[in-house]
Amino acid sequence: MSLAEEIRVSHKITLPQLTQLLETDDKVVIEDLRQHAQAQAQTIYGHDIYLRGLIEISNICRNNCYYCGIRKDNRNLTRYRLYKQQILDCCRKGHTLGFRTFVLQGGEDAYYTDDRLCDIVNCIKRDFPDCAITLSMGERSHESYQQLRKAGADRYLLRHETANEQHYGLLHPSTMSLSHRKQCLFDLKSLGYQVGAGFMVGSPFQTITNLYEDLLFLQDLQPAMIGIGPFLSHHDTPFKSQPNGSSERCLRLIAILRLLFPYALLPATTALGTADPLGREKGILYGGNVLMPNLSPTSVRKQYMLYDNKICTGDEAAECRVCLSKRMEMIGYHTVVSRGDAKTPDEIA
Ligand code: SF4
Repeated sequence: MSLAEEIRVSHKITLPQLTQLLETDDKVVIEDLRQHAQAQAQTIYGHDIYLRGLIEISNICRNNCYYCGIRKDNRNLTRYRLYKQQILDCCRKGHTLGFRTFVLQGGEDAYYTDDRLCDIVNCIKRDFPDCAITLSMGERSHESYQQLRKAGADRYLLRHETANEQHYGLLHPSTMSLSHRKQCLFDLKSLGYQVGAGFMVGSPFQTITNLYEDLLFLQDLQPAMIGIGPFLSHHDTPFKSQPNGSSERCLRLIAILRLLFPYALLPATTALGTADPLGREKGILYGGNVLMPNLSPTSVRKQYMLYDNKICTGDEAAECRVCLSKRMEMIGYHTVVSRGDAKTPDEIA
């Protein structure tokens, strides 16, 4: 039995196994990993690729994560936020284009009080009842998450970024804490959200042991979605001179995640597509099954630069939709008009 097959059967991995898969140059071992991950994804999701329409609602953030281009202390960008009507307009455009999930993503912007955000969620649900709403608005209180859930939010994305306390402290100022972030994720789960976690690959100071800790944390959390992408530096951050993460390592980790979490929703991220022009296609061929094209108005796209050289910042939503569908057809997959909920073992049996 190959290493990939062992992981596929047991849904477990050891640190030496992870090290071997991430460090090997043996093309046969890498291709075996890829093939097992792709087969696992196809067994559950066939050739369907789920779409999420990403609406970047604010680049205003109270935090100062060392890696992030929209961190509070970056004075070299124009700040913006989208208001309710603009967000609803994006949803309308997205719905016409076949999106059935909207992801509202932004920095931790105090404008979005619970009342305002609940109102936005309510209105989206009223106008587009066949759609799922994902929020990605950072750390909030248990009560806030509860109210938003009641208002109709279905999912919440909150990348944990690294599960190691010491490493977390090297990526974030001391005002932020990993234990609070993890608590948020468990709160979200307990409130019935479909939760998405995730981490950067190749972030400064990251070791393979850190990545192993990420996998262990994810096994504990059991999220519905896991988003990973290579670390990409931004020129206006303290990490401007740090080397970018490896897209190749990211692909191998997507494959490993697919073997460990067969039912998880695994996006081929924009960061992966930025690091490698064919990164999103490869992400799918390594076991991914989700894409998150941008529905934000083109007028604000360039202001939501979490890292340098982000792709698709000049394209209209419709162009992105068509381009990605064609790219998927080229590799034998098709984008579907669906909410794209995670499947369960019962549905497959
Ligand atoms: S990573 Fe998120 S929380 Fe941190 S500064 Fe950027 S937007 Fe804010």
